[in-house]
Formats: sequence, structure tokens, C-alpha cells
Amino acid sequence: MIKKRLPVEVGKMRIGILALQGAVREHRNMLHRLNVETVDVLNPSDLDGIDGLILPGGESTTVGKLLVRYNLLEPIAELGRKGLPIFGTCTGMILLSKYINNSEQYRLGLMDTYVERNAFGRQLASFEADMAIPVLGDIPFHTVFIRAPYIDKVESNVKILLSWQDKILFAEQDNFLAVAFHPELTNDTRVHEYFLKNTIICST
Ligand code: GLN
Repeated sequence: MIKKRLPVEVGKMRIGILALQGAVREHRNMLHRLNVETVDVLNPSDLDGIDGLILPGGESTTVGKLLVRYNLLEPIAELGRKGLPIFGTCTGMILLSKYINNSEQYRLGLMDTYVERNAFGRQLASFEADMAIPVLGDIPFHTVFIRAPYIDKVESNVKILLSWQDKILFAEQDNFLAVAFHPELTNDTRVHEYFLKNTIICST
């Protein structure tokens, strides 16, 4: 039985991190620095009582297949539809999208976004850049991209938080937050704090 708790404050939250593949440890370290309890999600019962869920980067076709094999795809999608806050980075952004250009791969399909995978071309396959992200304040954020996707189209209910050369790199829709880059690979906690303080607190 999946029960959701009402988070009182950031320090009392318990956040699940999908631990099937990818940058799990980095997200865990980031949340521990913010004094937030984490739980690695490998089974449907690990979803009990969490206040939010992080979908780390990795390889989205593989993670999609593992979600099916571990019986997590439908439970997570259902919780998302019921309002569980979910934050996807890179592969997580792909899994959150309803539409993945030219792909039938498994997905949670929760955000009204169209994503293009591995979308930056060979020369920009991996790159880093300082970008101004207004919702995070005046100091630019150091963005790290690794074979990243981008969103090329959204429905009107999606709020765009960062775009660059027509590519949408950071977006939110109700209880969902998606980034194309890897904030967990920096020392900057602001994107994670945005998830805890804005996405979770505003949607519960
Ligand atoms: N290219 C990967 C995919 O399509 C995403 C890369 C990442 O998560 N760093 O799933």
C-alpha cells in the first residue's frame, strides 16, 4: 500500500532515488549535503512514504526496460499522476516525457514535452557551460551535459525555466521537474533545492 506523507520541512523529507542504473550516488550525496534522507528505489515497496523521487541520468532505453522488469514503471507513473513530485535529470527527462522523437522506448510519459535524445551532435556530445537560470538567482549555474537530450516542444502547461538556442533544457509542469544537464555532478545544490522547496512544497 503506497501512502504519501505530507512533508513539513525540507529537513524532514524522505526522497527516493531510482537506483536501477546511472548517477545514483551523486544525487544521494547532494541530498545528504542538504540533510535530506534518501532511499534507493529498486522495488515497488521502496516507494512507500516518499515525498519525492529522483530519476538519475543513465541510458534511457536500458532504464526503461529495467523499470518494466522490476515492476516499477506503472507504480511510478501512477504515483506521478496522483501528484508525487518527480525530478528527472537527463535520462530522467526522457523518461518523464510523453513524446520521444522517433522512439517507441518505454517511458513514464508524465510531462507534455517532446524530447530529442543525444541531441547536441558529435562535437557537443559532452560539454560544460555557465548559464543564467533566473529561478535560481543571479549567479550562473555550471551546467554539465553528457550525451544530453533537449526538449524541442512543449504544451502550454509546461513552464520553461531555461532554454538555449531554441533548446529547452530545464522545465517544470505541476509536480514534475526535468533538466537536460547534471546538477548532481557539481557542488551547486540550487537545482536540488529548487526541487525540494518549489516542486515538492508547492505541489503537496
Ligand atoms: N543519452 C542518454 C539517453 O538517451 C542520456 C544521457 C545521460 O543521462 N547522461 O538515455
